[in-house]
Amino acid sequence: MKVVIVGAGIMGLATAWALIRRGHDVTVFEQGPAPNPLGGSVDRHRIIRHAYGAEAGYTAMIDPAFAAWERLWADLGERLYVETGVLAIARDPAGWAETSKKTMLAAGVALRGFSGVEAAARFPLLLGNGIASAHLTATGGVLLADRIVAALVRMLGDGVKSGQAVRAVDSDRGQVTLASGASVVADQVVVAAGPWVARLLPSMGPRVTPSRQVVVYADPPAHLAAAWRAMPVVLDLDLTSGFYLIPPVRGFPLKLGDHRFSLTGDPDRDRDATADDTAAILAVCRVRLREFGRFAIGEAHTCFYDVEPQERFIVERVGKRGWVMSGFSGHGFKFGALLGETLAAAIVGERDSAAVACYAAGRGGP
Ligand SMILES: Cc1cc2nc3c(=O)[nH]c(=O)nc-3n(C[C@H](O)[C@H](O)[C@H](O)COP(=O)(O)OP(=O)(O)OC[C@H]3O[C@@H](n4cnc5c(N)ncnc54)[C@H](O)[C@@H]3O)c2cc1C
Repeated sequence: MKVVIVGAGIMGLATAWALIRRGHDVTVFEQGPAPNPLGGSVDRHRIIRHAYGAEAGYTAMIDPAFAAWERLWADLGERLYVETGVLAIARDPAGWAETSKKTMLAAGVALRGFSGVEAAARFPLLLGNGIASAHLTATGGVLLADRIVAALVRMLGDGVKSGQAVRAVDSDRGQVTLASGASVVADQVVVAAGPWVARLLPSMGPRVTPSRQVVVYADPPAHLAAAWRAMPVVLDLDLTSGFYLIPPVRGFPLKLGDHRFSLTGDPDRDRDATADDTAAILAVCRVRLREFGRFAIGEAHTCFYDVEPQERFIVERVGKRGWVMSGFSGHGFKFGALLGETLAAAIVGERDSAAVACYAAGRGGP
């Protein structure tokens, strides 16, 4: 079968990998360089974690996601994952972290719980005030995102056509038209265009909103550096903050971010992080991290989420020969290998498309 994929982010590339493994002929068109630093997948790292609030479906997909990454590591010949463990902090006993804990325990995920006092004693790099409780999973950590994307691009070789923007998709005919005017017809077409999706599939416009997000890198003071290297990923999400941090791994600085959606911005234009963007993240850190005033603040950069209002992924059929992968809402990377395999199975007819859409939306299934 001949398949054309639009977009060389993790979703398009992982789908290409899974199809090529099955012996199909795949071409990936990428508008920028491959990897494209403007894509949502191209940053140093992405978190994988079982904690998912009340979302039992996504919690249950994490072990299959790990298994899919293992299959990819075997094919790539390298393991691009650092297991740091994941600490989820609850400031509100009815909040996200406590809800996650209940969902994880019901799913049989091993975790260690802490009272607020215990958490403050066990993790002295965090300021303990306001922590009601916390829990730690030994599994979970950091996927080395840009290296994964680069390794997939290398593996797919000539199958990835960089600098080839797709101007139009006819999902009934299986045809893509390139910006150059040339067109290609395939048996199936996959649109995995990240925050640009609605430009090719206007029906996605009301369902998915590009959302400009900012992350800041920082180095802790030298006397805390070793302790920070031993820290887990920290998630401190509540109604007033979407704070998360990734500890220094593989020589990268610490990464600080806020998961709350801006729901604004144009992924082609609004790329510079402003002083105000940085200041907003630093203000959250100041009341959460010990000696934060002594951290060396490094680069800040922007990245775009493609937000679906309920944060549910869209992996669906479009027209007679088309598929779309979208709505990853800032939490899709961890499922890249799994969803690539799942969509490949649907494309070749091994899985029912409606069941796959339901699974990707976190509502259970295959
Ligand atoms: C700051 C930030 C932090 C995140 N943290 C996490 C995390 O910790 N854990 C997690 O699981 N997920 C996380 N995510 C989300 C995750 O990174 C994304 O869900 C995922 O990378 C989306 O992959 P994608 O392939 O759908 O899109 P992208 O990576 O954006 O790829 C789409 C590609 O399509 C190309 N393209 C678009 N239009 C065209 C066209 N017309 N012709 C040709 N090519 C085109 C683009 O150039 C781009 O390369 C985060 C995202 C951001 C921005």
